[in-house]
Amino acid sequence: MIKAMNISYEIGDKLYLNITNKCPCNCTFCIRHNGDGAYGSDPLWLEHQPTAEEVIDNIKKRDLDSYKEIIFCGYGEPTCELEILKETAKYIKSVTKTPVRLNTNGLSDLINKRETPAEFKGLVDIISISLNASDAKAYDEVTRPSFKGVNCFEEMLSFAKRVKEFVPEVMLTVVDIIGEEEIKKSQAVADSVGIHLRVREYVD
Ligand code: SF4
Repeated sequence: MIKAMNISYEIGDKLYLNITNKCPCNCTFCIRHNGDGAYGSDPLWLEHQPTAEEVIDNIKKRDLDSYKEIIFCGYGEPTCELEILKETAKYIKSVTKTPVRLNTNGLSDLINKRETPAEFKGLVDIISISLNASDAKAYDEVTRPSFKGVNCFEEMLSFAKRVKEFVPEVMLTVVDIIGEEEIKKSQAVADSVGIHLRVREYVD
């Protein structure tokens, strides 16, 4: 039984924030399938949903100036707890100049049932959105979203385009295991929306 409440954890000179277990996807490559932790950290499954206060209390114990970046990431999709994310980011912005990054599946509007891009303004400096694949069919096969009858690939791209207005740096990402041909096609998709594509190394 996992007992840890690993709300924040360090990898190298970065601090990662793990604010929820929730996610509407079930990606084939998700770290959830690869054991309890991420890159050697302690177990990330949260035994209960932390409140914004708990998250902030947790990071108060850390020297936030000492990190190169503070990243909302973790075991679930951070925008599933958008209010907690925003309150925490607001606190971070009030105490440090360390850049804040959000790693997301880009489905925040579907998850929160409203237009959310403007809500990141002033709170997040970098958004890294999982493109995952070069078209809707391949995307659904890889991410297996729980939203039915919705083109999640188009929703994610639309979010990426709109959030550029409010966040200084937006990037799309794919994992290198998708193969060279898919990476090339994904590059064309990223180019078509004018967003940088980052190819991430798959860590088994
Ligand atoms: S979106 Fe992220 S947390 Fe959710 S299943 Fe995919 S990889 Fe895992």
